Amino acid sequence: MDLSYGSEMEGFREEVQAFLEANWPLGDEEKELPFEKQAAVFRERAIEQGYLYRNIPKTYGGSEQAPDVLKAQIIREEFGRKWAPQEARGIGTMMLVPTLLERGEEWQKEKFVRPTITGEITWCQGYSEPGSGSDLASLKTKGELQGDEWVINGQKIWTSGAHVSDFMFCLVRTEPEASKHAGISYLLLDMKQPGIEVRPLRMMTGSADFNEVFFNDARTPAEWIVGKRGEGWLVSRTTLKHERNSIGAAQQTRVALKGLIELARKSEIAGRPALEDSSIRQRLAELEGYVKAHQYSGYRQLTKDAKGEDAGMIAMMMKLFSTEIGHKSAGLSMDLLSEEGLLSAGNAELGVRAKDSQGWIARYMYSLGIAVAGGTANIQRNVIAERGLGLPRDAAANRSPER
Ligand SMILES: Cc1cc2nc3c(=O)[nH]c(=O)nc-3n(C[C@H](O)[C@H](O)[C@H](O)COP(=O)(O)OP(=O)(O)OC[C@H]3O[C@@H](n4cnc5c(N)ncnc54)[C@H](O)[C@@H]3O)c2cc1C
Repeated sequence: MDLSYGSEMEGFREEVQAFLEANWPLGDEEKELPFEKQAAVFRERAIEQGYLYRNIPKTYGGSEQAPDVLKAQIIREEFGRKWAPQEARGIGTMMLVPTLLERGEEWQKEKFVRPTITGEITWCQGYSEPGSGSDLASLKTKGELQGDEWVINGQKIWTSGAHVSDFMFCLVRTEPEASKHAGISYLLLDMKQPGIEVRPLRMMTGSADFNEVFFNDARTPAEWIVGKRGEGWLVSRTTLKHERNSIGAAQQTRVALKGLIELARKSEIAGRPALEDSSIRQRLAELEGYVKAHQYSGYRQLTKDAKGEDAGMIAMMMKLFSTEIGHKSAGLSMDLLSEEGLLSAGNAELGVRAKDSQGWIARYMYSLGIAVAGGTANIQRNVIAERGLGLPRDAAANRSPER
């Protein structure tokens, strides 16, 4: 099996390395800027060079390169190796922008893409409702066209970042007479208006990153609809594909394993570094096996993408693998931290090590949530089993999974 990218691509890798060598970290004067400003300066240069936002046309702020999944992968690898800023993460950039590029109107791309990728405007995703999570198509929030505006009434839940977002992309029921999938539209709306109330939900990490959102005659212009009226379900599939890809990337599990090995080096069991303990070594080796499998599945996905073939179930497996490895890694970190793993936030006086451990505690708690976000692990196992492997329907599930 030849896993190299070939001599042409290795030449491209050298070009990227030379660019990074010259441009990151920034020069002495620019290094005084706050990190976000440094990242913005660097991203601008990387866009000029054709390395970032490659699939976004220049008119909307991207570098408009011909699609090349291998080049994109090499850029990710090399930027990651040098800890150089990559494309800004965030719901807007990772989910809405690709959706608009694929299905939006020209004016929507012009208005929203550039300020979203530069971070000037932020977005939240209004899909889930109480009782409509896995069975998303049963959602009830209503959108009625009154004159030249949609009037929206209902409730969303688990809306990450709604309290700090400028806009929301959301699914609402606009055709109450149609069947459940055919009655949904995909609307964009301004969060800063009197018809919207955002109530934070506190998570077990102690922070309140997601919210309930109540719509009480909230309004948005008639043309702020992506895709046709009643075709929101189709549009939402595009967004969901990008959400899963962003969660499932193999680099994340590799970075987690590296951090864990470092933690095992610093932790002690019976007065010796935990890294020398045979049961810890066994668990790390097992995790490395999963990480390698994840990485190779990533290569399979890459090969399919490079050939223009549908990655099918591999994309779904990547998200499942990623969240499971994240959870296993975080579980091992809790065992390594031992009683320190019980510390809650705010124990900074315990020094550097406590700061480290708080990162791992937060990661452990987060690993439980991320397995649910974007479709639960249970549902994904069922989808892979039923649609991928052709196994019979799960007798315990009373309906077919939607998410
Ligand atoms: C950290 C985090 C961030 C999130 N951010 C957002 C956001 O920004 N915007 C947004 O809209 N939503 C968001 N969500 C919500 C997320 O999409 C839903 O939680 C998820 O789709 C599951 O829906 P639910 O919570 O209603 O659970 P339910 O659908 O009620 O599921 C409960 C349990 O039943 C199982 N189950 C349900 N149906 C079936 C079936 N047919 N077969 C087998 N098992 C089944 C599930 O696997 C799960 O274990 C977020 C969630 C989390 C945890």
